[in-house]
Amino acid sequence: MSNITVCSRFRPLSSKEKINHGDNVCVHGIDAETFVFKDEKEENFSFSFDRVFYEKSEQAEVYEFLALPIVRDAVNAINGTIITYGQTGAGKTYSMEGPSVLECDEKKQGLLQKAANGLFECIKSTEGAVKHTIKLSMVEIYMEKVRDLFDLSKDNIQIKESRVQGILLSDVTEIAIFDPAEALQILSSGIANRAVGETQMNMASSRSHCIYIFTVQQGLAKEKRVKCGKLVLVDLAGSEKVEKTGAEGRVLEEAKSINRSLSALGNVINALTCGSSGKANYIPYRDSKLTRILQDALGGNSRTALLCCCSPSSSNAPESLSTLRFGTRAQHI
Ligand code: ADP
Ligand code: MG
Repeated sequence: MSNITVCSRFRPLSSKEKINHGDNVCVHGIDAETFVFKDEKEENFSFSFDRVFYEKSEQAEVYEFLALPIVRDAVNAINGTIITYGQTGAGKTYSMEGPSVLECDEKKQGLLQKAANGLFECIKSTEGAVKHTIKLSMVEIYMEKVRDLFDLSKDNIQIKESRVQGILLSDVTEIAIFDPAEALQILSSGIANRAVGETQMNMASSRSHCIYIFTVQQGLAKEKRVKCGKLVLVDLAGSEKVEKTGAEGRVLEEAKSINRSLSALGNVINALTCGSSGKANYIPYRDSKLTRILQDALGGNSRTALLCCCSPSSSNAPESLSTLRFGTRAQHI
């Protein structure tokens, strides 16, 4: 059985959506959990999630509902994963980073900055009894290759599994962080590296998955035992379907690769949430690099949060529906 929280979030209409399509919002909120979605053919679909964040919702609301419990657990050596899913332009990165990872306005800061803060706050409250160390890694998955965003020369990181430490990224750069401000500087350098790599490879960041891994080590001073909790944040590649006609060469290969890994993620989550009979069912973690990296932070006794990001505009209705359906399938049955 897994602990999964599934939420959806609608960003405000963009200025382009307003100009092109009028104020054509297709989300009609019922309450904090339920809404009706009217597609471009005026057909109504009702959806329920653990929480729905409408366009006026604040970054802090999203953090407190979705991420804070997972941040607290990581400090107590329980792994967790926070994932943003949705088509390009739906608000995944905004939810994760805000307008920029170095954004100073707390109201705008995303899950990443708030989680970094939260980890240090949780640690402070246990100070004295337990000594904690936090390390940070950042990797990107593009066409099933894992790149180290703190060292671009490591462009084919291998995934290994150890009985004691769980899933390991061989030789990945881990940077120890000692306060939230430092964490943001380091995150920002990783994000800048990502842009450099993308320019070199002539690709768009929306076509790769970005993974932030905070490892919280808990050394119990007296007992000489070391426990670890992993907090993994994942800003997924855009889930939009690439036009079958027209796409060719690398664009088509990229699309296939993204589609495969997002399907693998969906299958893993489904296998986890359907296993309520108590029988250990097979979880296909090995079907993609993404699910393999997330293996020990997804399932078991770890916590997962999925934020399904959508445009509110009828012009994007087909992609939003597909995102909402992914979220629905990920919920407990
Ligand atoms: P994605 O990462 O899913 O491709 P972005 O996060 O980059 O999408 O969002 C696309 C645009 O919408 C950006 O300009 C972003 O600033 C804006 N945006 C997204 N979500 C919100 C929100 N909740 N409030 C205000 N602006 C948002
Ligand atoms: Mg993005």
